[in-house]
Amino acid sequence: MGITRRDFLKYCTVSAAVLGLSGKELLRLEEALAKTGGPTVVWLQGAACTGCSVSFMNRISSSSPTTAADVLINNINLTYHPNLMALAGQSAAQQAEAAYNAGGYILAVEGGVPTAFNGAGCWAWTYNGVDVTFQQAVHDLASRAAYVLAIGNCAAFGGIPAAGPNPLQVKSVSAANPGLSTVNIAGCPPHPDWITWVVVQLLLGNKPGSAAFPLDGSRRPTQFFSQTVHNQCPRRKSTRAIAFGVDNACLMYMGCQGPVTFANCPAQLWNNKQNWCIDANGRCLGCTEPAFPFSALFNYRGDANDRHSASFIQTNRYNCTNCHNGSGGGD
Ligand code: SF4
Repeated sequence: MGITRRDFLKYCTVSAAVLGLSGKELLRLEEALAKTGGPTVVWLQGAACTGCSVSFMNRISSSSPTTAADVLINNINLTYHPNLMALAGQSAAQQAEAAYNAGGYILAVEGGVPTAFNGAGCWAWTYNGVDVTFQQAVHDLASRAAYVLAIGNCAAFGGIPAAGPNPLQVKSVSAANPGLSTVNIAGCPPHPDWITWVVVQLLLGNKPGSAAFPLDGSRRPTQFFSQTVHNQCPRRKSTRAIAFGVDNACLMYMGCQGPVTFANCPAQLWNNKQNWCIDANGRCLGCTEPAFPFSALFNYRGDANDRHSASFIQTNRYNCTNCHNGSGGGD
């Protein structure tokens, strides 16, 4: 864990293009990191698979930091994270309590919020002999947070835990807390650099929704979610595959969600720029979209005319107002 603020700055400098940081912003980041003590972060996990934390922690690079956990622990005052912290039980809960009392922290929420049975479908911790539901923990900690980050689609939009039949009535963080404004770092899981970028923006003092930190209508950072996957896809205009396993073929007929999914995966790439879903011949599943998951495995929330259905995409591809402003074109 021997990583310094200097190393973090070096990482941001090396990754400036990917992270969309200007020279001026890097200078401001250097100033911010020169101050002692980073912002306090409380990271909660609810109805989720822990994949968002795993994705973030797997951010292994030849440049510093070697892992995103280093960023969280050494550059940011991460006071509570169920997987990363050494403390457990009452001692761990005390860390969250101390952050709550101080206020002004960043609350990162991973996972949806089960709301049925007074939240008893998911427990955060036991404190002084009292069991605290995840729903209560999110509600209380959000009330004194400077910013609330919804990490991944479950926290941002409900995701797989909120897909039908949803007996626990899982909701997104904002739906479970009406009036709460979250920054939605979409994805199942989100790309680690998307999370890092948001943390950097907060370190720079840029407020979510400001000109320097714009959000789209789903409160996703436009830095990464302003274009469809399809618009950036190298397979656009390629021969359309009618079976899986065909290299370099467009997967539109296989139900690819790229035309209706906003994310920069084709440019960002995954697993330290090794690959991404479509380059591995897997169709885009639309995991950054608010209505994800689109699968018969779940009680699909759309209808026959839903723009995410494979038949809709195939039928409307020549006049897709979502991507092409109705200008036509078969690509
Ligand atoms: Fe790429 Fe999918 Fe668009 Fe085809 S439909 S070009 S595979 S994003």
